[in-house]
Amino acid sequence: MSQAALRVTVVGAAGRMGRTVMQVLSEDTSSELVGALDAPGCPGQGKVIGVLAGVETSSVVLSDDIHATTKRAQVVIDFSSPGSTAKLLDVCLGLKLPAVIGTTGLDTEGKTRLGRLAAVAPVVHAPNFSQGVTVMFYLAELASRLLGESYDAEIVEMHHRHKVDAPSGTALRLAEGVAKARRLGSKAFTFGRDGQVGARPSDQIGVLALRGGGVVGDHTLILADPSERLELVHRAQDRGVFARGAVRAAHWVVTQPAGLYDMFDVLGIERS
Ligand code: NAD
Repeated sequence: MSQAALRVTVVGAAGRMGRTVMQVLSEDTSSELVGALDAPGCPGQGKVIGVLAGVETSSVVLSDDIHATTKRAQVVIDFSSPGSTAKLLDVCLGLKLPAVIGTTGLDTEGKTRLGRLAAVAPVVHAPNFSQGVTVMFYLAELASRLLGESYDAEIVEMHHRHKVDAPSGTALRLAEGVAKARRLGSKAFTFGRDGQVGARPSDQIGVLALRGGGVVGDHTLILADPSERLELVHRAQDRGVFARGAVRAAHWVVTQPAGLYDMFDVLGIERS
């Protein structure tokens, strides 16, 4: 490992994403895992990461001590839960520690804490760290603007049965992109339909969440007029795609001034 390896702490380390991030880090010669944090009492506490995540080279032990696990870090990568992320953001604020936040479903208070940290340290927050999805966000805005309001916009997402928030942060971000392109507010969003809902108004953006099986993450934006339908589809094949994007974001964020960034910034996509 080189002297200049980026020192990373993973939060939510025992979870599906946390373990995947640690696997990606173990293959990245320019980074070093220095801390692995998860909730008190979670399976694997006190065990070395090699046993937990199949990362044989790491002797780091899974811990519930937020201060000990962040002490040596230059950046944290967080895929945990909104409550845990809020606490982490406070600790990062005290340390002015750069952060890559992947946890979705943050409430208003969580977003306020994100803003507070971003005032003193660089932070990347993205509902989806896939590079393909980031390009889809860009294309969704562009297509919505080019086709205009005569095309109905509907978003459908599907995730595995364990996902706890709905709709996905990615579906919401897609809806925000369409709304921005059409100069609509979030009141245009309609989350599923049931009963006598009447004909569809043109300024509506439909968002539907499906749950089942082991689906890693599928998102479709449909733009439909009476004669044609344009569909933008993204399917994540495995969690490695999010983990690789988050590790790329970690390398990028430590070179940036304080501020709140997303994957558009990491990929260098210009905003319209
Ligand atoms: P998971 O349930 O498998 O893992 C979450 C982990 O967080 C668990 O191990 C849990 O014990 C841990 N945790 C809970 N409270 C904690 C605390 N106080 N301190 C430390 N750890 C704590 O979930 P997952 O599938 O890995 O997803 C985690 C989050 O990441 C979710 O919000 C999910 O929506 C989001 N996610 C984001 C992206 C993205 O690209 N942005 C991709 C996939 C998942």
